[in-house]
Amino acid sequence: MSVPYIGRLAPSPTGLLHIGHAHTFWIAYERERAAKGKLWLRDEDLDPQRSRADFAVAMREDLHWLGITWEAEMRQSERVDLYRAAMEKLLLDGLVYPCSCSRKDLQHATQAPHEDSDDEPVYNGRCRFAAAPKAILTPNTNYRFRVPDGEAIRFVDVHAGPQSFRAGCDVSADFGDFLVWRKDGLPSYQLACVVDDAAMGITEVVRGRDLLKSTARQILLQRALGFPTPSYFHADLMCDDAGVRLAKRHDALSLRAMRDAGLSPQDVRDRFPEQRSPGA
Ligand code: GLU
Repeated sequence: MSVPYIGRLAPSPTGLLHIGHAHTFWIAYERERAAKGKLWLRDEDLDPQRSRADFAVAMREDLHWLGITWEAEMRQSERVDLYRAAMEKLLLDGLVYPCSCSRKDLQHATQAPHEDSDDEPVYNGRCRFAAAPKAILTPNTNYRFRVPDGEAIRFVDVHAGPQSFRAGCDVSADFGDFLVWRKDGLPSYQLACVVDDAAMGITEVVRGRDLLKSTARQILLQRALGFPTPSYFHADLMCDDAGVRLAKRHDALSLRAMRDAGLSPQDVRDRFPEQRSPGA
């Protein structure tokens, strides 16, 4: 018997959803429908500064308006104990270490990095070999995951084709030791995402192509925690007329604004671009 398809929509309630999000979520919805599976809505409300209850209500309303339905829901802010348990396992296995030089990188660590400007710079490994970390989580401390130096993390994306990203501490690496835990007691996006995808039994992750490098990081965490790696479908991104990737700041392209301007859900869906062929 084949494994049933389980997918997820994982919006962050930090602004209004725009047509770019809608496009990716629509693909996730259509793929789940085609497979006659199950879809989760995961409210990624971990960022204490930027998450807002009114945006969480709006995102649910806007997705329903567009025609997307899901079978189950969960909120990340209610699951911090689970993330802490995973973090303690990484600590016991000696795979993470405390880092005192993370202040700037930490700013956005609970959020998925969608642009080079929010992604963590490749860390030079300064705190890697400081004193051996205690096997219990020390309060008020940031932690990084130690990546295998020089190893290429490879996976075949269902849509974007074969991918390879090099981990390490030198400038030529695609990513370095990345943040997994913040001193304010919250997991990073990378850790929370991996724990939840495993707990929800996700078989395919559909998200934007800007998260390909995060997938390589997440595969390392899955291996470390003994979790399976789901399939990945990284969808093409929508851009504005100037070729800039859409972001929450493009207010005129929010689903709300389009609906208020009299567009129907079908009018919005008609604006979604064709996906290019795999590997393009
Ligand atoms: N909440 C994340 C975002 O806003 C989800 C990323 C993912 O799908 O893993 O992009």
